[in-house]
Amino acid sequence: MRNQEATKLIFDLSFAGRRGAELPASDVPSSAGIPREFLADTAPPLPEVAEPDVIRHFTNLSTLNMSVDTHFYPLGSCTMKYNPKRHERLSSLPGIVDLHPHQNPADIQGMLGILFEMQEMLAEIAGLPAVSLQPAAGAQGEFAALLVAAAYFKDRGEHRTKVLFPSSAHGTNPASAALAGFECVQLPDSPDGFVDVEELKRHLDSSTAVFMMTNPNTLGLFEHRTPEIAKLVHDAGGLVYIDGANMNAILGITRPGDFGGDMMHYNVHKTFTGPHGAGGPGSGPIAVRDFLADFLPGPVVGKSASGAYELQQPAKSIGRVRSYFGNLGILMRGYLYLRTLGAKGLREVSEVAVLNANYLKAKLADVLPVPHGRTCMHEFVASAQKVQKELGISAMDIAKRLLDYGYHAPTVYFPLCVPDAIMVEPTETESKETLDAFADTIRKILGESADLLHDAPHSTVVSRPNDVQAARKPILKWSPCCDS
Ligand SMILES: *Cc1c(COP(=O)(O)O)cnc(C)c1O
Repeated sequence: MRNQEATKLIFDLSFAGRRGAELPASDVPSSAGIPREFLADTAPPLPEVAEPDVIRHFTNLSTLNMSVDTHFYPLGSCTMKYNPKRHERLSSLPGIVDLHPHQNPADIQGMLGILFEMQEMLAEIAGLPAVSLQPAAGAQGEFAALLVAAAYFKDRGEHRTKVLFPSSAHGTNPASAALAGFECVQLPDSPDGFVDVEELKRHLDSSTAVFMMTNPNTLGLFEHRTPEIAKLVHDAGGLVYIDGANMNAILGITRPGDFGGDMMHYNVHKTFTGPHGAGGPGSGPIAVRDFLADFLPGPVVGKSASGAYELQQPAKSIGRVRSYFGNLGILMRGYLYLRTLGAKGLREVSEVAVLNANYLKAKLADVLPVPHGRTCMHEFVASAQKVQKELGISAMDIAKRLLDYGYHAPTVYFPLCVPDAIMVEPTETESKETLDAFADTIRKILGESADLLHDAPHSTVVSRPNDVQAARKPILKWSPCCDS
């Protein structure tokens, strides 16, 4: 019942003449100086509702969603860990939220100091000395770093046109490379789930600009041959890009700069917490080797001769990729997270994240086997192929039915190299009890009738939309009042 109410549009609640606020009469002539063709003939079709209607409508809508604060959220690759409330509170202090980016640097030394320290900490964790906090998400970090690479090669007078990546790469990798003007070359993965080094060798030549790889990779496996891979790429004159979305597995244990990366992005909202999902907000700082520092997007925060913090533009900067200092709200939460945990705490984050993933993987191994079944890092990719064959239950059925039991679904059908993939990332913030209950629920689901599962979920407002039709014929109308 409540669900049905909440699926109404706010326009359905409209009642002529009802108001939530009384505005004083306008003392400006309504059409003063505005050319006739820009004036509307009728008032906009806004809903006429009282304040309680608005509050109830949006509060009810908000309860239909799943979130890290309400449910276990093992969405592989996305690192949906708990966001500490202390950091929410601290990053909302007036001294932080009341600053204005146009203030004189002398008056915002505290904030610039925070950003400077954030750059330093990210450089240390990456093992790469130069950082720009500007990119607003991981994908934009990739794009910015590839522009840095392009500027670097141009500066050297080298014409390198290709970006290589393994087939298990996140879709943002080729998208970023294409947007940055490179030709994308996808390499098949080796059967054991790693970068195929022989295949890479065959493709490396003087046209190679960048090899993009994720480590740990998208299968949750640590690419142990990365130093060798990096040497091959470097010998061919190319650069190695590390997609840092999986940093949650290696914090304080190993560093992209140490295993051969020349550039990387962080996903601060994933690894260092920031409430994210549904497309934002994010923060994707990039870290690069010293010889690339001059090309970073700017400004970056530096220190003047007198020791004051100041905004500096790198000498050959590719320019801005975002307004002001980057996505400050998320950077603040990340900064607080790093300061709260410290070096020892960060290492423990990764150790527990890896332990949790391996625990859950082992608990489910008999029903959802992992094709690349060695010890995983912070996530694992199981296959529903066996239960599909034996029980007629698909990865999608399991994912959808989990919603009925109060779990956010894992990532499914990605990466493509695992048939009927179910990608689970429990993160370090979940207890053993939660992991046990989740594993029990999966077993319970596998004992249910396939027919019941094909129509799941049964308890949500929208049950199972036709994915293909939803993608091909999306319904984008925003208002029923315009629907005639
Ligand atoms: C999340 C993710 C990205 C993209 O990061 P956004 O912050 O969502 O733009 C890139 N690569 C991998 C492996 C990811 O998991």
